[in-house]
Parts: sequence; C-alpha cells; structure tokens
Amino acid sequence: MFNLENLVRPNIKSLVPYSTARDEFKGSARIFMDANENALGSPSTQWYNRYPDPHHTRIKQKISAIKNVPASNIFIGNGSDEVIDLLYRVFCEPGKDEVVIFPPTYGMYEVSARVNDVHVIKVPLMADFQLDLRRLEQAITPMTKMMWICSPNNPTGNTIDRVDIEMLLNNFDGIVVMDEAYINFSRQRSFLSELSEYPNLVIMQTLSKAWGLAGIRLGMAFASQPIIEYLNKTKPPYNISQPVQDIALKALEEVGQVNEMIVELVKYRMELEQSLLALSCVEHVYPSDANFLLVKCRQAHQLYVHLVDNGIVVRDRSKVILCNDCLRITVGTQNENQALISAMNTFQSQ
Ligand SMILES: *Cc1c(COP(=O)(O)O)cnc(C)c1O
Repeated sequence: MFNLENLVRPNIKSLVPYSTARDEFKGSARIFMDANENALGSPSTQWYNRYPDPHHTRIKQKISAIKNVPASNIFIGNGSDEVIDLLYRVFCEPGKDEVVIFPPTYGMYEVSARVNDVHVIKVPLMADFQLDLRRLEQAITPMTKMMWICSPNNPTGNTIDRVDIEMLLNNFDGIVVMDEAYINFSRQRSFLSELSEYPNLVIMQTLSKAWGLAGIRLGMAFASQPIIEYLNKTKPPYNISQPVQDIALKALEEVGQVNEMIVELVKYRMELEQSLLALSCVEHVYPSDANFLLVKCRQAHQLYVHLVDNGIVVRDRSKVILCNDCLRITVGTQNENQALISAMNTFQSQ
C-alpha cells in the first residue's frame, strides 16, 4: 500500500521551513520595512529592489487555467533540474535509498542521484525502447523509493506504452515520476488528467522546449497536494526570480503562438526525417514524438566531427547503451535543417 508519510525523509517531515518576511505579514500595506530591501531602488531603469513572490501565485493561476489542474497541485522550480534535485532531497535517504532509471534516458536523473548520494538501479529499455517489466520486477528492492519514466523519452524520442506506466502506478508503492518535457510534441496525451487517481504520481513539465523559454529556467511539477507541500517547504524560498516570473507571466498569455510553433516544428521534424532517409550515411531514423530525431548513421562519430567542422553541433549519442552509431538531432528552422542535410551530403561524397 502506498503511504506518503513512510516515503518522506524524517528530516523533511519535521522541517520547519524558512518563513519569509512577507509570509509573516498578512493584510495590505503601503510601506514595506520588513525585508531589509533597498527602498531607494535598483541601479538600472527597471526596479528589482523587492523580493519576488516565493509562492509563484500568479504563475500557478495561469498554468492552472492552461493545464486544467488546481493551483494547489502545481509546483514551480528553477528548471526541471531543480524539481529533480528536490524530489531526491524529499524522498531519498543518502547512502541508503535507491531509485530506478530506464537507460538510455535523460542524464540528470543519475547525476542528481549521485549528488544526493542515492543509489541508482539501471533497468535498460528493451530493443523497442519500451520498459522491461520482467527485469524491473527483479531489480526493485524495499529500498527503492522512486522511478524515473521519461515519455517521450530523451534521447530515443518514443512514447512509453501507457498500459505499462499504469501498471507501475497501480503496483509500485514508491513515487513514479513521469518526465513529460516533450509531451507537447507527442500524439500521446499527458498523464495530467489522471493526477487525482494516483497518489504516487509526480509529473514534470517545463517551459524549456515547446514554450521556447529554456533561457529563463522554469520547470513545473504536478502532484498530490501533500507532495507539493513537501516540495514547497524544501525549496529555497526565492527560487524563481522576479524577471523570470515577469517573463513567464507574459509568455503564458500566448498559448496560441506556442501551439503554432508546435505544429510548425512537428512539420519540420517530418520533413527532416524524409530528407535524412534519402542520405546514404543514414541507416535508420527512429520514430519520434519529440522535437528531435535519433538517427542511426554510418560512422556516426566521424560524421559528428564533420558536422562540427561545418559549424553544426548535434548530440553524439553513439557510445550510449542501445544508441550505437546514433546522433540525436534537434529540429531546427527550415534553413538550419537544410544546412544540416547539405553538410551530411558532403560527408557521404568524401
Ligand atoms: C530538456 C529536458 C528537460 C528540461 O529541463 P529544464 O531544467 O526544465 O530545462 C527535462 N527533462 C528532459 C528529459 C529533457 O530532455
């Protein structure tokens, strides 16, 4: 049986969170002399002399409306990377607890585990890039607190089968983290609508991909209210700066523009896939539900170096498990995609 209180680390359960000056004051005021800010302003035209809202209230209202999820089920982090780190800090006892990852997958799950001294159990995906449930069953132990499922998965680009994920949500007594960084590009629907059914589900999304805001660092987690409260009390109070909150609030008005970009990028992805398949140095292009393609190439590493020589950087995944000879290529503008194809053409004719 899933029991959240048994999963949360004792030091986090008993933690008394930092109380900001504005948390202790309730009401409306004209003059703020409570937070040791500089009342005279900032040395620039724009004033940022006041601390930002630690609860991200307006951003959560906007995201709540867009995603149709109550604000009390939303957490805002300094990128998904902060959410990943906080989940380790809330749930995993250093040197004792374990988590499961399904390689090849996003590198931060393992790096962040190592930073937090949490043991990582690796259950590689099968050849079709789906979960290996038989091996998973043998791998988990009573110390296994979380598993990280990335869908669509980076770097393979595919969506993980929904029935497999539902099976884990129904049977695993720890936390199932679903990383949906690429969900906007997918034909598969998000697990957000199932949030209230699963007390062990944490969904991560981000403004870094479809929203085009990787530079501002804003990640989201969606989960039950008790999990959100543990993340809130563990995070640094002012984890989202005022300029970032301002930019995010404006961007979140533009759902229409984002949807247009998604349609355009998916179209370019399909065009790029066709162009790549016509090249003799390309052996296979894996189906993608994301804004990148995993491409099996002849002489992948040499091709990578050739592209760099031509000023084009892709991601060399040729040494990664199940990705032998593969490059991961992010969909660019039509001009960029064309330049890539031209450079790959000169590689084959060398
Ligand atoms: C890009 C990416 C993210 C986004 O991370 P941010 O810290 O929000 O920029 C998260 N997960 C995966 C799998 C990604 O590829």
